Amino acid sequence: NGTETAAMIAAHNLLKKFYHHLLIHTKEGQVALDYLLSRGFTREIIDQFEIGYALNSWDAATKFLASKGFSLQLMEKAGLVSKKEEDGSYFDRFRNRIMFPIHNHQGETVAFSGRIVGSGEPKYVNSPETSIFNKRKILYHFHEARLHIRQKQQAVLFEGFADVIAAVRAGIHHAVATMGTALSEEQARTIRRNAESVIICYDGDRAGVDATLRAAEMLAEAGCYVKVATMPEGLDPDDYVRQYGPERFKADVIDASISLTAFKLNYLKKGRNLQDESERLRYIEDAVKEISQLNNAIEVDHYLRQLANEFSISFDVLREQIKSYERTRK
Ligand code: ATP
Ligand code: MN
Ligand code: MN
Ligand code: MN
Repeated sequence: NGTETAAMIAAHNLLKKFYHHLLIHTKEGQVALDYLLSRGFTREIIDQFEIGYALNSWDAATKFLASKGFSLQLMEKAGLVSKKEEDGSYFDRFRNRIMFPIHNHQGETVAFSGRIVGSGEPKYVNSPETSIFNKRKILYHFHEARLHIRQKQQAVLFEGFADVIAAVRAGIHHAVATMGTALSEEQARTIRRNAESVIICYDGDRAGVDATLRAAEMLAEAGCYVKVATMPEGLDPDDYVRQYGPERFKADVIDASISLTAFKLNYLKKGRNLQDESERLRYIEDAVKEISQLNNAIEVDHYLRQLANEFSISFDVLREQIKSYERTRK
């Protein structure tokens, strides 16, 4: 009900400020703060994203919330504390973690993601699904990014919170991320309602490439024009910004994003030796198949011409070849 919802949100809001205070102003928070600064987070960014620190304690947040008059039973429903089975007592869900507040699309704080300080497992602990936090609906940073997304008619989609924060440092304000889960249909529709096009900028590892193809499918289905920003193997956007700086990230990654079709054609080249005649012919055949899936005749013509030029094949032959696939198209 409405009263409970309001109390759950109020609790998140107060706890967010408490965590932020612990990070910035206490000696218990120093190690976490040093870790963030060593990763290139600035004080401005830490303030802007309201990043905090949960003490290495079983009851600091529990006591804090109780002292503010919140029912711990309700706080468990909010995902902020957990209940011990044996005696029914409550304890902190987040302990010794860097805390990223998660806002809903109206800007209310409805969840947290807690990152381990340094290395270790699990790297992130997120709030559970609650009546105020639906992972399939919420996009991280959407509340701040919405106006920028509408103005640009474009969104940039990342895998991780750290990537969004790095992007904002690079002046990319129309950045959002999923909750460490695959992009959902609802999230794709939310993006489409606010923008014509989207740039997917996932990690440059195998998982990132696979997730890119799945997210692209979902976004294209929702009616977005999809582009892909590709990352060097083994780097994620946040690593890239740290290694090469924000200017190069914007110029060489975001502004250099390519069409989904170009990305798929590149992907088909991976692991193939195009100097080898038969492998080259197999690639061309697969590329023509891929191009045959396009619904737009202008694009089909464009990519076929490009392929013809790249491998010095007659355009008419490719045109002829594609007809046999077009008949079997989904
Ligand atoms: P960092 O730069 O801090 O190491 P990252 O964003 O690069 O973090 P990834 O391992 O690439 O981390 O994961 C991407 C996203 O997936 C994270 O932002 C988080 O939302 C989610 N995630 C990662 N590990 C976990 C986990 N163990 N449990 C839940 N979610 C996770
Ligand atoms: Mn990853
Ligand atoms: Mn990553
Ligand atoms: Mn990272």
